[in-house]
Amino acid sequence: MRPASLDEIRAANERFQLASPQEILQWGVERFFPRLLMATAFGAEGCCIIHMLSEIQPATKIINLETGYQFPETLELRERIKARYGIEVEYIYPETTVAEYEAEHGGPLHVLRPDQCCYDRKVLPLRRALQRLAPLAWISAIRKDQTAERQKADVVQWDQKFQLVKLNPLLNWTKKDVWAFIHRYNIPYNPLHDQNYPSIGCWPCTRPVAPGEDDRAGRWAGKVKKECGLHVVEVKDGEGI
Ligand code: SF4
Repeated sequence: MRPASLDEIRAANERFQLASPQEILQWGVERFFPRLLMATAFGAEGCCIIHMLSEIQPATKIINLETGYQFPETLELRERIKARYGIEVEYIYPETTVAEYEAEHGGPLHVLRPDQCCYDRKVLPLRRALQRLAPLAWISAIRKDQTAERQKADVVQWDQKFQLVKLNPLLNWTKKDVWAFIHRYNIPYNPLHDQNYPSIGCWPCTRPVAPGEDDRAGRWAGKVKKECGLHVVEVKDGEGI
């Protein structure tokens, strides 16, 4: 299978500007499967995409970065998805357990150096997984209206950081679209969403939001950090789109 050229990526992005998420995923499957990957933190958006993939190509490889700091509700959701769709999301682990990691650094790094913690427990394990799985494209569940950074994303783009084509099939969906889809198809979702956790990551870096707060205000609350580094858009002159 040949990798996508920048011209092909550009053309696909133009073609799918107004397409449905299913149409974008269908193209991604036809063009890249089995070298197509989805990484999910089991957010509401990710659950919608898993549901769609269960109908389009249920053998699509799906991974979760199991940092060791995820909520029990998140781990349980993986089992509920397996029961519902027969899809077993693969856990990608860091090299050390939480106990080993905290002992090595004299305490939890997520308190004082969350960027380092995310790098060690998410970015590095993801890079190792990408080397092993060798996908040509991956699927993310980001939405444009989540952060200013995500506003810059395209439906189909070149991911400079990970050197992959990135499909963002839900980019133009709103939160309302996501929840309408979840309720319409009775899709399993994290029960923490019903307890004022609109965005769920690791438990030490996630708190519920108050009425009127931004959906991602509960992620790394009190810190400048708003992304774990996986979905930061990196486009260099002449590269990517
Ligand atoms: S979200 Fe927090 S606990 Fe999880 S890897 Fe990042 S800093 Fe560490």
